[in-house]
Amino acid sequence: MKRLFVMLFLFVSLSGCVSGEAESLNATEQVLARPAGALHNGPAFRFTKIADDIYHARGTGALNVGTNSVVIINEADVMLVDSHISPAAAWVLLDELKTITRKPVKYVVNTHFHFDHAHGNQVFPPDVEVIGHEFTWQKLAGTPLEERSYLSFTSPVPGRIEDLERQIAAESDSDARSRLEEQLFVEQNYWDSLQELAPMPPNVTLERKLTLYRGGREIQLLFLGRGHTGGDVVVYLPNERILCSGDLLLPGIPFMGDGHVDEWGETLDALGELDFDQVLPGHGAPFAGKARINHLKSYFTDLWNQVSRLHADGVTWEQAAGQVEMTAHGEFYPQIQEPGVDSRAVRRIYELLNGEVE
Ligand SMILES: [Zn+2]
Repeated sequence: MKRLFVMLFLFVSLSGCVSGEAESLNATEQVLARPAGALHNGPAFRFTKIADDIYHARGTGALNVGTNSVVIINEADVMLVDSHISPAAAWVLLDELKTITRKPVKYVVNTHFHFDHAHGNQVFPPDVEVIGHEFTWQKLAGTPLEERSYLSFTSPVPGRIEDLERQIAAESDSDARSRLEEQLFVEQNYWDSLQELAPMPPNVTLERKLTLYRGGREIQLLFLGRGHTGGDVVVYLPNERILCSGDLLLPGIPFMGDGHVDEWGETLDALGELDFDQVLPGHGAPFAGKARINHLKSYFTDLWNQVSRLHADGVTWEQAAGQVEMTAHGEFYPQIQEPGVDSRAVRRIYELLNGEVE
């Protein structure tokens, strides 16, 4: 096995030298070792063509990939927007990328530091430029495995595995049991993938703007203000009128646990100044137009005002989370079925109100 690995490595290195062409080293061959937790039944990604050489990559459910990514195929290289939730997910993306291109990945953008967008970074070799905001660098170079957003989403995984095992043992219907077994397989692979996690910060950072010209394509990386995190970068393709929004603007309500809910609306205004027709979000399906900017802004304003009142009344954040009433926004956010919001959002707003956030 070891010898095979060495031979493969030599073959890849030599084929790279001999032809001297960028395309000689395709995306899969860039990374040889399959990380733990990369097993999946059927394709893990569905690539939706948005424009010539631009694809939105979304998980099929066969593997926990966390977030969407965007594949931008340039004249000689490829840019990925976001690296997914684990080294396994990033590795499988590279593996499946060969169905749409054999050009090498040269650029990876982290729209922000959150684990589901950046914990695949480690599979990329050092000659790949991993680009993110200075704040994203600070977070990922710090203690990303102690981040509360990471812990709040990953600590329930072992419990979910045990729960699925119990359900499988009790299930008598064979179809239902095999569905549960598939869920368990995905969950177990996700847990396995976390065991090899060694988060890697970007190796190129920006503060405000970075523009890449690749062949005939212009790619703008923009920081327009704080919002979902302290360092959200959007990827804007002015000629194609496409915006890759990360989690700053989603079809649904973004996670607010690390957000700057009081500044987010202003950042969305700056986003609305850009000329784009299509948005490729970090979660959910692509959408057209700018109407969702206003829906999200009015949601934030309403949430901020309600939480501020409860805060002033001395209600705890845990209680406030159950009392906030956002069902009026259900027209645009059908996931809102009843009063109450994510308590992590309310805790964050309390911290902002208390001046506990830099
Ligand atoms: Zn996020």
